[in-house]
Amino acid sequence: MKKLGIIIVATLSFMGAVAAEPAVSTPTVQAKTKVSVVSKKSMSTTKYQIDQSKAKGAYAYSSSLKKKAFKLSSGHNTIFYAKSQETVKVGKKTRVYYYVKSSSNSKLAGWVWHGYLIKPILSNSQVQKLVASGQDLNPSSTILNQPSAFYSTYRSYLRKEFNMTGPLTPFNDHKARVYVADPDLKTYATKAMGVWNKALGRTVFVSGTASHHELVIDAKPSKEWDGLNDGSHLYLSSTALNDKSYMDSVADTPEIRALYNQYESVAEAYKDATNGSAEKKAYLAQGHTLYDQLIAAQKAAAPSASSYWEGVTVHELGHSLGLDHTPYLTDIMYAETSDDGFSSSVNGKYNWNLPKDPNDSRRETPTLSSRDVNRAKLGMKLGYW
Ligand SMILES: [Zn+2]
Repeated sequence: MKKLGIIIVATLSFMGAVAAEPAVSTPTVQAKTKVSVVSKKSMSTTKYQIDQSKAKGAYAYSSSLKKKAFKLSSGHNTIFYAKSQETVKVGKKTRVYYYVKSSSNSKLAGWVWHGYLIKPILSNSQVQKLVASGQDLNPSSTILNQPSAFYSTYRSYLRKEFNMTGPLTPFNDHKARVYVADPDLKTYATKAMGVWNKALGRTVFVSGTASHHELVIDAKPSKEWDGLNDGSHLYLSSTALNDKSYMDSVADTPEIRALYNQYESVAEAYKDATNGSAEKKAYLAQGHTLYDQLIAAQKAAAPSASSYWEGVTVHELGHSLGLDHTPYLTDIMYAETSDDGFSSSVNGKYNWNLPKDPNDSRRETPTLSSRDVNRAKLGMKLGYW
C-alpha cells in the first residue's frame, strides 16, 4: 500500500511535467522543431535549484538548444547560479531559458527552461529554526506553503517532527472511496467524512461501494479499543457500541482526572494503613465517597453516543490521512500515551504519558483542532493522500 501511494504521486508529477515541458526534450522532436534565439540578456546573479518534481526526464541544453548538456536529475540538491537568460522560439512557442552553472561541479552547466528552476529551498538549519519557532506539532502556514522540493528533501524530518505515520490508506487523486459495510455505522461515517472534507476544503473521502473502495468501515468486537484502522479497514468496537452504559465511562475532564488521582492516592494510603485501625476505616470511607463523586462526574460529562462515535470515526479517518497521535486533549488525534500497548507506539517527536493541555477536556465530539487540520494538510504535501 505504501508503494502504491508513492507510485501514484510520482505518476502525477510526471504527467504534469510532460504537459509543461517544451518540445525539445527528445532528439527526434529537436531535429524537426525549428529553434531560434529571439533575444538574450544578462541578469543579476540569482541562485536556483532544479524543481525535481517537475523536471523528471528533462535536460539542460547547449546554446540554441542544439545539444543536451546534462540531465536535470543529476543536479539534485545542487545550487546553480544564473547570470543570463534568452528567449527562444521553439517551433511556434516562445520559451525563456536561463543559463545555469554549478559552482561545485563544472559539468553541470547549461540552458534550462525557467519553469524547472525554483529559488533554493530552506537549508537544514533554517527548517529546524522554523519548526522550533512554531507551535508544538502544528505545522505553520510557512511550512505548509513551500515548493514541492522542500517536502521531498525534508520528508523524513517533517514526518517525525509532526508525528506523522506516512501513507496508510491508498488514495487516488487525493481521494479515498469509503464503503460502510455495517449499515448501523452509516450516519457516523457520513458525518465523520464530512468533517474532514469541510476542514480540508476538498472532497477527500467519498462514498464507495462493496466492489469499489479504498477503505471499509465496519464493526468488530473488542474490549481493547473503540476504533482501529489498519489502512484498508476502519473498525469501531461492536462491544462498546452495544454497551448502553459505555458513555458513562468515557468522559475525561480536569475535574474527573483530579478525582481519579485523589481516589488513587487514598486507595494507596488505605493499602498501607494498619489492618483494623481507625485510619484504615477512614480511608475506606473517603475512598467510597471519592468513587461515587468520580462516577457522578463522569455521568454528568458523558457525551451523546452519536457525538462520541462520530468523533472516534473522525480520529480513525485521521490515521488514514497519515496522522499519528498527539498529547493534546483538544486534538481529535489525542492519545493518553505515546505507547498504548496494543497498537504500534508513536514514532514521533517525543514520548508522553500525560496530556500537554491538562486544564482542557478531552474532545468527545467530531471536531478538529487547527493542529489536526494543519497536520492533515502536511500529510497531503508529503504525498500521504
Ligand atoms: Zn488512534
